[in-house]
Amino acid sequence: MSGFNLLHLVSQGQPVKLKACGLPSGTCRSKKTWPKSFPEEELRKRLSPMQYQVTQQKGTESAFTGKYTDNKEEGTYHCVVCGAPLFTSDKKFDSGSGWPSFFDLINKDSVTLTDDFSYGMHRVEATCSQCGAHLGHLFDDGPRPTKKRYCINSSSLNFKAKNGVSEEVEASGGAGQSPPSSKNEEL
Ligand SMILES: [Zn+2]
Repeated sequence: MSGFNLLHLVSQGQPVKLKACGLPSGTCRSKKTWPKSFPEEELRKRLSPMQYQVTQQKGTESAFTGKYTDNKEEGTYHCVVCGAPLFTSDKKFDSGSGWPSFFDLINKDSVTLTDDFSYGMHRVEATCSQCGAHLGHLFDDGPRPTKKRYCINSSSLNFKAKNGVSEEVEASGGAGQSPPSSKNEEL
């Protein structure tokens, strides 16, 4: 019998306690914490007043006023608050509603859906799964194949064009402009 000592390091992992909600879906919404959070002060500086109102206070921009409503460029739409990719241009369609509309997500986990009973009606609120930014609402009157319509505020989105062409103009060294000749006028 040979003794063989193993130095066994057991990490004391604490069991993760999951909070049971026990309430109907949606009612835990206000208690939820998101993977990413930003100080209110930072967001007020970084976002426009409309972007702040929509994403942080569940506002809704007026129909046909958002900058992406008629955007037909190819690319991806990211959360304006945390930058998470949410939608792609190939899932965007013209719903005529006055807001950017998408029939599907970039991936199924990118947006969190919760019940919204505000204004005396039942709607499904669409929220960024990373930071909890309010995006808009989900309706069931979209086109095939999903028949979904994610009705999203432009103010919640930051569009990045697919081809990545930026509008930066390279400095041309001032070609075409001759420097003003200086005259020495002696009196
Ligand atoms: Zn986000």
